[in-house]
Amino acid sequence: MTRHRRTIVARTGALSSLILIALALLALAAAGAPASRALAAPLVAAGPARASAAPQAGSGGWFWPVGTEDFSGWGDSWLEPRGAYVHVAQDMHAAAGHPVYAIGDGTVWISRADTGGYGPGGSPGGCMIIVHTTAAGEQFRALYGHISGLRFKAGQHVTAGAVIATVNGCDHLHFGIHPSTVYRDGNMYEGHVPKTWADHGGWVDPVSFLKTHPRASSYSPPPVPLIEVKTATPPVGEPGARDGFAYWNEQPGAELVTYRRDLAGGAESVLAPGDVVPALDHVRYVIALLAAPASGFTVGDRLPRMVVTIAHDTPAWGESARLTATLTNAAGKPLAGARLKLQSRAGGSWTSAGVGLTGADGVAKLAFTPALRTAVRVAFSPPAVQPAGAGYVSAVSAAATLTPHVRLGTPRTATTVASGGALTVAGSVAPQQPAGKSAVRLVFQRYDGAVWATERNVSATMTTTAAGGTATTSGYVALVELKTAGSWRVRAERPADASFAATVGPWRDFTVK
Ligand SMILES: [Zn+2]
Repeated sequence: MTRHRRTIVARTGALSSLILIALALLALAAAGAPASRALAAPLVAAGPARASAAPQAGSGGWFWPVGTEDFSGWGDSWLEPRGAYVHVAQDMHAAAGHPVYAIGDGTVWISRADTGGYGPGGSPGGCMIIVHTTAAGEQFRALYGHISGLRFKAGQHVTAGAVIATVNGCDHLHFGIHPSTVYRDGNMYEGHVPKTWADHGGWVDPVSFLKTHPRASSYSPPPVPLIEVKTATPPVGEPGARDGFAYWNEQPGAELVTYRRDLAGGAESVLAPGDVVPALDHVRYVIALLAAPASGFTVGDRLPRMVVTIAHDTPAWGESARLTATLTNAAGKPLAGARLKLQSRAGGSWTSAGVGLTGADGVAKLAFTPALRTAVRVAFSPPAVQPAGAGYVSAVSAAATLTPHVRLGTPRTATTVASGGALTVAGSVAPQQPAGKSAVRLVFQRYDGAVWATERNVSATMTTTAAGGTATTSGYVALVELKTAGSWRVRAERPADASFAATVGPWRDFTVK
C-alpha cells in the first residue's frame, strides 16, 4: 500500500463556486432610527472634548469625522456653487466643542491652528491634514477644517477613531479628501475651486469616497474547516465532493463500489450501478487523503456562508433600508475584516451600491435607499493573497427585494361641510407622480354610531407639484359631495404596483352638517 498524503488542487475551468447562500428576511415593524443616526456621537458642551474615541465605525469601516453619516441640511455641500467657485468638501454639522475623530489610522501631515478659512470670504479655522490608507493600499489626504484644540502635531501617528480636535465656532466640520499628493495650485487648504476646473483641483466627494474605498483592516479568516471521512478500505482514485456531498470509490472485493456521504449530516450510501457521479467541484472543496494506517480523506469546504437580514424591506420613500450581512465559514466561524459589496439591480444588471467590512463577529452593516422596487444582494470576494490554510472562494447572498412605499400626507379638507355641498380634498404624494395620473384613491368613511363604514371611494388625479412642497412631491385635488350628516373621515390609499408597496395614509376627520 502506498503511503501518501495528497492534495487535489483547484483546476482551471472548474465549476462556478457561487453557490446558494441562505438569506433571512426579518420584517421588524419597530424599525427605530436609521443606522446613520445610531452612529451619532453624544454632543459635548463647548470646551475640551471629553470623549476619547468615536463610538463605532460606520460605512466603509471608517470612523466618520463627527460620528454620524447624517448630513441633513448640509447634504449637498459637495460642489455647492458659491459665486464663481464650488465647495470641494462635505460640511458636517456639529456644535462647537464636538469631538472630531480620525477616520482611520494615519499620519498627521499638517497641523495648524492659524489657517484662515477655506476659500473666498472664509471663516476662521485651524485644520489638520492626515494621510490615511484604504484597504486597497491607496493613500489619500483628509482635510479636517474649522477645528480647534488640535491634539496632534505633524508627523505624529493617529489611531482610527481617536479624537484629534474639536469643532470650532463655525458649528461644522469642513471635511475634504484629496487622493493625489499634487495640489493643482499648491494650496492644500482650499475649500473652494473655480467652477471651470473640471477636476475640482483633485478634490473628490469625501462621502462617496469613504463609502466606496473601505478602510485598511486586517483580513483574518479562520482556517478552512475540514470534515474527516473515514473509509473501510483505502479509497481508489481521487475522492471529491460537490454541493455538500463527498464521493469516493473503494474496492473491497472484485467490484468497485462508489460511496456518497452527506457532509453536513454524515449519512452514507452506496451508489447503485448506473447512478451517475456528478462533476466534482475542485474549487470549493479541497481533498486530502488521510495518512496510513488510517484510511479515508478530509474535505475542506472553502465556501463561506452569507446570511443577510433586512430590518425593513418596505421603507418609506427616501428612507434607507438597513442590511446586516454575516459572513462565516462552513463551521460557523466568522470571517473578520472581509470586504463585502452591496449590489443593487432595478431592471438591468447588478451595480455596486456600497461597501462594508466585517467586524470580529463577521458582521457588516450596510444601508440602501431604494427609489423604487430594487433587488439587492451582498457579495464577498477574498483578497488576491490569502492566508495559508484559509483560502476561501467568492460567495454571494441570495437576492432580496426592497420595495419602498410612497409617502401619503394627511388629506386637507375643511373641518365642516354642508350636506350636499362640495368638499375639496387635497393632499400630497412623494415621490413625484405624473400629472393626470390617477395615483391615489380617497376612502371616505362615516361613523354610524358603532363602526366606521366606507361610504365612498374617489379616485384622485395628480395635479402638479404640491404648493409649498419640494420638487419630489406631487399634489392631488378632488371634489366630492357627501349628503349624510355626521362624523366623517378620509384617507389616501395607493395599491401596490411594479415600483412601490401598498400604502395607506393617515386619516383626516371632518363633519358633514
Ligand atoms: Zn466647508
